[in-house]
Amino acid sequence: MPDACLFCKIASGDIPATIVYQDDEVLAFQDIAAQAPFHILVIPRRHIATLNDLEAGDQKLVGSVVTTAARIAREHGHAQDGYRTVFNCNRGAGQTVFHIHLHLLAGRNMTWPPG
Ligand code: 5GP
Ligand code: ZN
Repeated sequence: MPDACLFCKIASGDIPATIVYQDDEVLAFQDIAAQAPFHILVIPRRHIATLNDLEAGDQKLVGSVVTTAARIAREHGHAQDGYRTVFNCNRGAGQTVFHIHLHLLAGRNMTWPPG
């Protein structure tokens, strides 16, 4: 992993975050600049810079990221009203931290299309 990767440092505990779930593969924590009343980031512990860097063997890991987001949404009471999940890939899509992360946003109505 690159030394400078912020989310690797959160995964290792070197930088604090409000963690809502973790296991051997994935970690979920509150976004520091929430864009909704409920805004969680779900990351793989392993450093993967962008979705472009995924390999065939990463399917199970990405599945764990997505199912973790769905379970957290359900456990926090957002399954019925709904929630949004977003992977931004590269700068043109708004990616600013280059360690893949799934945004989980809930607690307000969402508009479409996104900006
Ligand atoms: P991106 O723009 O790459 O899709 O999303 C990066 C997200 O990481 C942003 O929503 C931003 O608020 C969040 N973020 C940036 N730095 C930190 C940090 O130090 N701690 C936490 N918890 N979130 C961060
Ligand atoms: Zn990383």
